[in-house]
Amino acid sequence: MVIISDLIKEEQKRQEETLMLIPSENYASKEVREAVGSVLMNKYSEGYSGRRYYQGNKIIDEIETFAIDKAKELFKVEHVNVQPYSGSPANAEVLFALLNPGDTIMGLKLSSGGHLTHGHPDITFSGRFYKSVQFGTKDDGIIDYNEVENLARKEKPALMIIGTTAYPLILDWKKLGEIADLVGSWLVADISHVSGLVLAGEYPSPVPFTHIVTTTTHKTLRGPRGAMIMVTKKGIEKDPETASKIDKAVFPGLQGGPHNGTTAGIAQALIEADSGDFKKYGKQIVINARYLAEELKNGGLTLVTGGTECHLMVVDLRPIGLSGNIAAEVLEAAGIIVNRNSVPNDSAPPFYPSGIRLGTPGITTRGMTEPEMKIIAGWILKVLDHVKDEKLPEVKEKRGEYIKSFRIKVANDEFLKNIASEVRDLCKKFPMP
Ligand SMILES: *Cc1c(COP(=O)(O)O)cnc(C)c1O
Repeated sequence: MVIISDLIKEEQKRQEETLMLIPSENYASKEVREAVGSVLMNKYSEGYSGRRYYQGNKIIDEIETFAIDKAKELFKVEHVNVQPYSGSPANAEVLFALLNPGDTIMGLKLSSGGHLTHGHPDITFSGRFYKSVQFGTKDDGIIDYNEVENLARKEKPALMIIGTTAYPLILDWKKLGEIADLVGSWLVADISHVSGLVLAGEYPSPVPFTHIVTTTTHKTLRGPRGAMIMVTKKGIEKDPETASKIDKAVFPGLQGGPHNGTTAGIAQALIEADSGDFKKYGKQIVINARYLAEELKNGGLTLVTGGTECHLMVVDLRPIGLSGNIAAEVLEAAGIIVNRNSVPNDSAPPFYPSGIRLGTPGITTRGMTEPEMKIIAGWILKVLDHVKDEKLPEVKEKRGEYIKSFRIKVANDEFLKNIASEVRDLCKKFPMP
């Protein structure tokens, strides 16, 4: 019989003993985790503070109001909704609130570092219910703002939704705001990855230039899995009804009862983010990322855009002839957890892309700094070199089987086992919260 509590313990051990280098992940504090798993999850509270459809919500009202007020204070926005179940629903809710089906939306392509919810064609809500036009990057992986402006002038989007999941440079919010204003478009800044860096002062805030800001709360913000939709002063000026449109789109438009444990977790994460320690944390994330990027480059790897200005980097594996799947699998066998990722003009399909994405929010939460980045970069270089001759089969149908047998092979590889054990020793010195 499966015992869930045993599996949770196993997962805890996995997290303790491996390096979390996936840039969208983080370790939430014990207080955040306790809030999420608390008795608050037993309560139904459809509606908003003071206007619930259920009795018994006095305390829930207090918690949600606190979370909203804290987010308004920290991000300097006029209105906040903390109920979205996660980042993707939050973005769908914004589109639902402000647009009619068939309106034109514009965003950064997934393959260039955008997100599925930013109008990815065919398979997503945003790409199916709206007319989506998308821009990419130049060959060097960098956004060309002239191209963005030309596309906006040509297509006249009703809404631009811009944010990044795998873009190592800082976005020019001012320029994007000007482009949106030029064509009369809504601008939605999706800062899911970087909202923690924004609060730490390490990434510019889009708030002065945009109408709406969405963010997940579980990435650099280090809260529970959830999201927020924020309306700026500019957003209210564009349409005084913006805030109520957003609230109605969340409930009853697309959601029912809010996840109250998550709301309390968001409140707790915002309290934690409002501290000198969190500013230091944000600063160290970026220092670590830059240092790790330099070490990898010195070791001969090629980075998309040539480096990083934030918490993440994308390694282009084409120059060393390695598939992203092979790199990610072999690193996992060594206790280093990354994810595979497309690179600019990747001719390989998204399921078998030519790059890997690495980030420092998790390992920085554990207290690691430059000396550890040097060690980690050394491991990554050695591990990739160890499989330098591995090739993904040309025939697509054979790739799945190949990866499966490769996984078994690397799990029994002594060289990799030794590195995994060195990784475990390092992890012991930097316990997770
Ligand atoms: C993570 C992310 C999302 C989606 O968040 P989920 O909680 O996974 O639904 C949306 N936009 C951006 C930019 C993200 O990084």
